[in-house]
Amino acid sequence: MLTRNFYPEKKINTFYPPQRILMGPGPSDTHPRVLSAMARPTLGHLDPVFTDMMEELKSLLRYSFQTKNLLTFPVSGPGSVGMEMCFVNMINPGDKVLVCRNGVFGSRMIENVQRCGGVAIIVDNKWGEPVDPQKVEDMLKHNPDTKIVAFVHAETSTGALSDAKTLCEIARYHDCLTIVDSVTSLGGSPLKVDEWNIDAIYSGSQKCLSCPPGLSPVSFSERTVELVKNRKGKVQSWFMDLNLLLGYWGTTRTYHHTAPTNALYALHESLFMLYEEGLEHSWARHQRNHKALKAGLETFGTKFLVDEKYRLPQLNAVYVPTGVDEKEVRRRLLVEYNLEIGAGLGDFSGKIWRFGLMGYSSKIENVMLCLGALETVLADMGLKIQPGAAEAAAHQVYANSPLTSMPAEALN
Ligand SMILES: *Cc1c(COP(=O)(O)O)cnc(C)c1O
Repeated sequence: MLTRNFYPEKKINTFYPPQRILMGPGPSDTHPRVLSAMARPTLGHLDPVFTDMMEELKSLLRYSFQTKNLLTFPVSGPGSVGMEMCFVNMINPGDKVLVCRNGVFGSRMIENVQRCGGVAIIVDNKWGEPVDPQKVEDMLKHNPDTKIVAFVHAETSTGALSDAKTLCEIARYHDCLTIVDSVTSLGGSPLKVDEWNIDAIYSGSQKCLSCPPGLSPVSFSERTVELVKNRKGKVQSWFMDLNLLLGYWGTTRTYHHTAPTNALYALHESLFMLYEEGLEHSWARHQRNHKALKAGLETFGTKFLVDEKYRLPQLNAVYVPTGVDEKEVRRRLLVEYNLEIGAGLGDFSGKIWRFGLMGYSSKIENVMLCLGALETVLADMGLKIQPGAAEAAAHQVYANSPLTSMPAEALN
């Protein structure tokens, strides 16, 4: 007899997850069109029908990143794999890399630099503030042998947006390549890879692209491709070696690893939807829902962590009102409203909430549901709440800022 009794304490059933509303720091809600794309028949990863779809996927990604970079494709793995891909390929042992840190994800970049044998020089900024370009300029002046500048465009741990255009200008002036984390910015905030001269960029499928987690779009400039091709030593990671991966994502189509075909259908559909909507429309939609949520939250007296000028529309970090058990609020929102919001990280643990309005999650229904649910839960906890005031404030924003219809070209 084979044992079937691995988990004697719990009977195993088919897994059927509840329908949540994801308004945390990611993942965000997956659009039903994207989910159904995933359920289509699995193809071989070298099937010509599949490889044709891959070409479209690359084009759609170029549109989303606003780049002509030939080397633009999704890495099989979460955003963290896209991040490692940039660092392992571009850093040679001993290279000096300037990393900007203004939240959790900058720290991870430092870790990557060090594990690749590079020397990280760090520009620290307060959490909740954007990266200060002047500090980067000063650091590069003192370290003229720096090879790469790395920073996070949209810091999800705090909701701060950094000025990628200016940071890349400074890096280029000092003859450095740039690595940019756009996991939370792609699709949600203006991002122009070519215009801003970004050399290496990575993102994630599960934030503003309305797609499940597990894929990491990346794009590399010609300068980066040259750098990687002319490396002296081998890239330390076999899986992430761009020179080898190119055999699959390039024109020769040789086997490298089995691409997650169904996951790639999902990304294709989500990027196609972004294309139909139009990038500018998507950026405007994220702004509009942010403004409505903000108006509603402010009726509770909540303050934002990030100054308005640098605030991300897709990630709203606000201080928890004094005397409120923030964990209990999150628990009740999840259990009673199926609504997930995010907690604070690091020093902000227990002090802030993070409301994500990313991708398909960035919509009126979610803003209204969230405000209504908060009114009820906060009132139960003894806060002075005027019922309906938050929704009324949000409505006012919607009424005053109609979203213009989709650009005609997107409908062709
Ligand atoms: C979510 C996130 C990541 C990591 O992405 P994973 O898919 O979780 O690996 C990296 N950087 C930023 C800014 C993020 O928000």
